[in-house]
Amino acid sequence: MSMEMRSSIRRYLSPHLQDMRLLEMLCHPTVLSQPKACQRNMGGPAPPDSTWKGSLNVSYNIGPGFIGSYSTRKVRMHIHSNNKVTRIYNVIGTIKGAMESDRYVILGGHRDSWVFGGIDPQSGAAVVHEIVRSFGKLKKEGWRPRRTVIFASWDAEEFGLLGSTEWAEENAKILQARGVAYINADSSVEGNYTLRIDCTPLMYGLVYNLTKEIPSPDEGFEGKSLYESWYEKNPSTEYRDLPRINKLGSGNDFEVFFQRLGIASGRARYSKNWKVEKYSSYPAYHSIYETYEIVEKFYDPTFKNHVTVAQVRGGLVFELADSVVLPFDCRDYAAALSNYTHIIYNLSKSHQSEVTKYSVTFDPLFSAVKNFTEAAIDFHRRLQQVDISNPIDVRSLNDQLMLLERAFIDPLGLPGRPFYRHIIFAPSSHNKYAGESFPGIYDAMFDIKNKADQHKAWEEVKRQISIAAFTVQAAAGTLKQVA
Ligand SMILES: [Zn+2]
Repeated sequence: MSMEMRSSIRRYLSPHLQDMRLLEMLCHPTVLSQPKACQRNMGGPAPPDSTWKGSLNVSYNIGPGFIGSYSTRKVRMHIHSNNKVTRIYNVIGTIKGAMESDRYVILGGHRDSWVFGGIDPQSGAAVVHEIVRSFGKLKKEGWRPRRTVIFASWDAEEFGLLGSTEWAEENAKILQARGVAYINADSSVEGNYTLRIDCTPLMYGLVYNLTKEIPSPDEGFEGKSLYESWYEKNPSTEYRDLPRINKLGSGNDFEVFFQRLGIASGRARYSKNWKVEKYSSYPAYHSIYETYEIVEKFYDPTFKNHVTVAQVRGGLVFELADSVVLPFDCRDYAAALSNYTHIIYNLSKSHQSEVTKYSVTFDPLFSAVKNFTEAAIDFHRRLQQVDISNPIDVRSLNDQLMLLERAFIDPLGLPGRPFYRHIIFAPSSHNKYAGESFPGIYDAMFDIKNKADQHKAWEEVKRQISIAAFTVQAAAGTLKQVA
């Protein structure tokens, strides 16, 4: 490996990772190297974009075939796959709620791994165990949560989110009726720089309040809160004076709960500095090098970041399960909807002549978002005034909050993706791990100028705007005062 590559890798590693042994390990040919013979001689174009191309200074083509004198060459691959039907095991534990045992808050994470799974998933599974232990301790002291808490250890996540999806399909009717929230618990660390949260807008306020109560584990932030270090290291680019929260995509076990069933979901982990470390995930991801040692020696030697992630995940479950009034703020959903509507509208501006020619208008969507915002403000006002000694009134408003995420589900699903039914969020069609807002409209406009039938293509955009506007308006209706 060249000196340039070494320094280029070094730049992308956090200080804790700047160790020569790790560097050597990462530079093992199976993990990463300069283009090997077969890569160097590949024909065809370069990779299309950053999704395909990494941040290292290594150029290569993606085929088909080879270049120059290699063009007649062929590659013979021997692939040995075991194709068999096998049993998988989900492990489910329950603490029955004291007051509302028919309302469920779920903490779930997977247990299977590609190889040793030192980071993915065991750094997360260990945190689930510690949260279960702490809830168990409280229970021994006589405490019971207001709502039922379900702990889930999923199997076969790496094979396609199988354990969580099968369980949620089996229990779909119950979960749709009783599911309050799902907190996902995969890897606790993918870096050691700052907190990373992906969640529904309903949980923004809860996450911000909770992280103000948790001490920051970061060097230089002694005596300060997790919120403060998180905000300083990764401020939001969308909202002023707040830390960044990401949209939920997929590639993990929350998918069926959020994208298919419409249960408010969130996830938390310690992450890297994305501004500097631009590669996706972390260098040893899913490889044989993901061991306990890599975590103990490099990522989190004192396990302080694990403790912080346990406090966030456990704190979210505790608040969601035990607060009299659900800690969801529908006004944050309104702000997010408004933000996403402006983003998708601005995207359409690069097609101004087509927008005019085919009479494309976002007005119905803007109008629906305005109605949703008014309904959310009014709902929140009533929520502040609810008589908490009246269990029927509290339950009625809590049910409106619980079912708000469900209101964004379209039973018909997104075009060509019937299992992705959330109209506001979906995994990006181009990177399953990332989230996309108003995915129906976004996908209809994606690369639209290269579509053969322009009239048909823009009719589809209009149809998707209608679906989005209808869904947001319908969701606004669910927040209105019950007559
Ligand atoms: Zn995982």
